[in-house]
Amino acid sequence: MTSGWPPDWADRISGASCEMCRSERKDEDQYGIRIHATEHTDAVLQRAAIQPGYTLVIWRGRHVVEPFELTDAEASAYWRDVLTVARALNDFYQPLKMNYETLGNTVPHLHTHLLPRYVEDPAPGRPFPLLPQNGSEAITDSNRLAEDAAALRTLLSWPNTPLPAGTLSSHTVRVFRVSFLHQGRPLRGRLPAVSWPGQRDAGHAASGRSGRPRPGQTGRQAAPRRMRSPR
Ligand SMILES: [Zn+2]
Repeated sequence: MTSGWPPDWADRISGASCEMCRSERKDEDQYGIRIHATEHTDAVLQRAAIQPGYTLVIWRGRHVVEPFELTDAEASAYWRDVLTVARALNDFYQPLKMNYETLGNTVPHLHTHLLPRYVEDPAPGRPFPLLPQNGSEAITDSNRLAEDAAALRTLLSWPNTPLPAGTLSSHTVRVFRVSFLHQGRPLRGRLPAVSWPGQRDAGHAASGRSGRPRPGQTGRQAAPRRMRSPR
């Protein structure tokens, strides 16, 4: 039986031909615009128009394939950075759901795809149909991408520490900051006609507020169970 894995797979695994190890960590490259950088990671908002806010968080340092190869301190730093960026994307784009895909089946160097999921989504209720990029994908408008990247950089530059009791909640402050960043542009996830599978009461959809079902409401809980395993 022939293998479908690339013929240079051994070199990719060893890092000998790893394009992510060769990265010069620029603020912009052919893939996207860097919105966050730490000692251990770069987060790059992707040019490919696959999903608004689609971002890769890439481990920087020695060649690492699997997250379990990291030391405890490195793993903590890596996932902290992933979650920091995911929180900013969530605040800015207001999706229905955030997906975290740590795959590496094409480029086996540790990285995580952050994929916001929206009302208008190619596979509602299912894993995102993410395919390896081959350069033929549609590209996000460059001005829009630059605007989003600038706003996300600003958002990520602000401290996000809990506030003392009795003051405005940190959530309220984040909502205010994000509203400021959007400057009146509609939030992508906040579309009025939200309808979850099996949902009888579209009350929260008619409210015109967030597309997320409120705690205790029907919604994802009421959706028919899917037996297909997520990838
Ligand atoms: Zn590498």
